[in-house]
Amino acid sequence: MTSLTRADWERRAQALKIEGRAYIQGEYTAAASGATFECISPVDGRLLGQVASCDGADADRAVAAARAAFEAGVWSRLAPVKRKQIMIRFAELIDAHGEELALLETLDMGKPIGDSLGIDVPAASRAIRWSGEAIDKIYDEVAATPHDELGLVTREPVGVVAAIVPWNFPLLMSCWKLGPALATGNSVILKPSEKSPLTAIRLAQLASEAGIPAGVFNVLPGYGHTVGKALALHMDVDTLVFTGSTRVAKQLMVYAGESNMKRVWLEAGGKSPNIVFADAPDLKAAAAAAASAIAFNQGEVCTAGSRLLVEKSIKDEFLPLVVEALKAWKPGHPLDPATNVGALVDSQQLNTVLGYIEAGHADGARLLLGGKRTLEETGGVYVEPTLFDGVTNAMRIAREEIFGPVLSVIEFETEEEAIRIANDTIYGLAAAVWTRDLSRAHRTARALRAGSVWVNQYDGGDMTAPFGGFKQSGNGRDKSLHAFDKYTEIKATWIKL
Ligand code: NAD
Repeated sequence: MTSLTRADWERRAQALKIEGRAYIQGEYTAAASGATFECISPVDGRLLGQVASCDGADADRAVAAARAAFEAGVWSRLAPVKRKQIMIRFAELIDAHGEELALLETLDMGKPIGDSLGIDVPAASRAIRWSGEAIDKIYDEVAATPHDELGLVTREPVGVVAAIVPWNFPLLMSCWKLGPALATGNSVILKPSEKSPLTAIRLAQLASEAGIPAGVFNVLPGYGHTVGKALALHMDVDTLVFTGSTRVAKQLMVYAGESNMKRVWLEAGGKSPNIVFADAPDLKAAAAAAASAIAFNQGEVCTAGSRLLVEKSIKDEFLPLVVEALKAWKPGHPLDPATNVGALVDSQQLNTVLGYIEAGHADGARLLLGGKRTLEETGGVYVEPTLFDGVTNAMRIAREEIFGPVLSVIEFETEEEAIRIANDTIYGLAAAVWTRDLSRAHRTARALRAGSVWVNQYDGGDMTAPFGGFKQSGNGRDKSLHAFDKYTEIKATWIKL
């Protein structure tokens, strides 16, 4: 951690030089059209700088650079052990520039500096390091061939990968894609969200400094409907990996079908249930976890525990504990190291969240805490962590992804009812269960249709476990060796001896 104070961070923020250009073929470059857009900080509404607004012409340039690098074999045919060394160097550079990256992230999308520095940056470098370290320990297969034949089952990089990422964990989501994509030998074009482009742009130069050859890693900032769409429709992109909303994920599948049938791997939204049974081992711990599951990162988390399912018999005892725990999550200045709730990403997101709070009132839910915009005098966009009781699973606040700190409490009486409510959603990203009963823990974990299930905790996991969704939360997995499947093709080579 750091001993830097808010004043130190503010001084650094003033002195920060913002790089807003695209990165193609190993150098920073303006968009071909010369267009830019304003990068505004949600912390205080300050203009951070101009960012290149890339479009189809830039997509063409970046894809050509990526393809040429791939075909030249400067990275794709490098020995895995060599790629490993460069990836580890890349991870080390992320760590070495941790304070700068954390500051960029916080200014760009509003999360607390303590989180950017203590969570996002180390998790990002771990993702790069883990993938790099793994790549020279993976073996291909020899098929069960007859005596006079040899069947080889080998994995090859897919070629040119376009990665389109969201704004809630800009650096981390980029690195979850970059780690396995680069380790397996592909060339990558990263398209950060127009709401949070700065760390991705900086990352590109660090990758080059680590030794990743020109053209292998390119960054195109810009809007989804311009450069994002151009990449998704591009005839020379082999694989598209995406983290973002379910709405855009569905559109990307259409683009792939309309173009070259590129492989599409999607990590999309969630509306995760957090089920607290009467026999939970520790209600105080469950309440603390329920609060952090909705307030961490301002609730802008795909796995946010936004539906708190509570067994009726303990509700009167449990809810006051949740209220107390949630009060400890207070919006504050994101550059203050003591802040645990920062700014929402922008005023559009603020309006979305406030709209859902209104919908909660209109549908008859009972407000127990929060419910308002706060710290307006800062010029930034902040909202109070909000708790609604008396929610039914039919209400909009229980059905739709809010992507803000709004928690809905839904009551249940039996295990069957809890599972039915939990699974009554289009999403299937994550779920949690609190119980002392081992059989019930396993039974419910099996019954829950979600890519991650936590028992007596919320949000566990590290690089060793796959992460992704069932149903409309997506397909494929980030993290672990399973992520490598997205970035490789399997080839069968059959040799007559
Ligand atoms: P979004 O879908 O609006 O945007 C994501 C990215 O897609 C951005 O870079 C955007 O510019 C781009 N995009 C938008 N329209 C496009 C188009 N037509 N063609 C190509 N690209 C386009 O999502 P967001 O608001 O940035 O992020 C929030 C969403 O991300 C939430 O739904 C959240 O659940 C999800 N998310 C999922 C995971 C996961 O691992 N499953 C992790 C983090 C966030």
